[in-house]
Amino acid sequence: MNRPTEIQVVTRAADFAARRHTHQRRKGEAAEPYVNHLAHVAALLADAGADANLVAAGYLHDTIEDQEVTHAELIEAFNLDVADLVAHVTDDKRLPKDRRKRLQVEHAPHLPPRAQMLKMADKISNLTALLASPPAGWSTQRRAEYFEWAREVVEGCRTAHAGLAGMFDDLYDKREHGSSARSHGSTIDSHASDAD
Ligand code: NDP
Ligand code: ZN
Repeated sequence: MNRPTEIQVVTRAADFAARRHTHQRRKGEAAEPYVNHLAHVAALLADAGADANLVAAGYLHDTIEDQEVTHAELIEAFNLDVADLVAHVTDDKRLPKDRRKRLQVEHAPHLPPRAQMLKMADKISNLTALLASPPAGWSTQRRAEYFEWAREVVEGCRTAHAGLAGMFDDLYDKREHGSSARSHGSTIDSHASDAD
C-alpha cells in the first residue's frame, strides 16, 4: 500500500475524529459539536507551522481519553508518531482528577516540543471556549482556577513555540481578574535598576 500523502494524513484524521466524537458535545452553554474544538486545535497548529502528523494529532488528541480509542489503533490507522503525540497529551483516567491535573503540570516540561505545541493549542482552544461559552454552572472562581491551572501547564511548554505561548498569554490576560498575578513573561522586575 502506498504511503499516505500529507493531505491524506490530515483529512483522514479529521474524518476519524469527526466519526469517533459524533455524539460528544462541548460543555459550554452553546453545546457545540466536539469536533469544533478539534478543528480549532488542528488549525492553531497548522498556523503555527506544524507538520502534517502534528496537525493530524490535533484532530485526534482527545480520541484515547474520551472515546476509548487505543494507541495501537492509532498506529494502525495512522503511524507511530501520530499515536505517540496523542498518547503524550492523554491523561490516565484511572487516577483521581486532582492527581491528573497535577501530573499535567509536572509532565509538561519533559514532553517532546511537538507534544508541548499540541498541549498549548489545546489550552488556547479551551481558554477561548471559556471566554466565549463557559460550561453552564461554572462559577467565576472555577473559571479562574482553570485559567491558573492552564497557565501552570503552559509554563512548562512555552519554549516549544513563542507564537503559541504569546497567543495563550493574550487569552490569559482577558480572564476575569482575581487576586493572583502572572508569574512569567514580561512583568516588570521591581529589583532591576541600573541607576547606581
Ligand atoms: P473539567 O476537567 O471538568 O473541564 C475542563 C475540561 O473540559 C477542559 O480541559 C476541556 O477538555 C473540556 N471542555 C469541554 N467543553 C469546554 C468548554 N466549553 N470550555 C472549556 N473547557 C471545555 O474542569 P476542571 O476539573 O479542570 O475544573 C477547572 C478548575 O476548577 C480546576 O482547577 C479545579 O481545581 C477547579 N474545580 C472547582 C470546582 C468548584 O466547584 N469550585 C469543582 C471542580 C473543580 P479537553 O482539554 O479534553 O479539551
Ligand atoms: Zn482538547
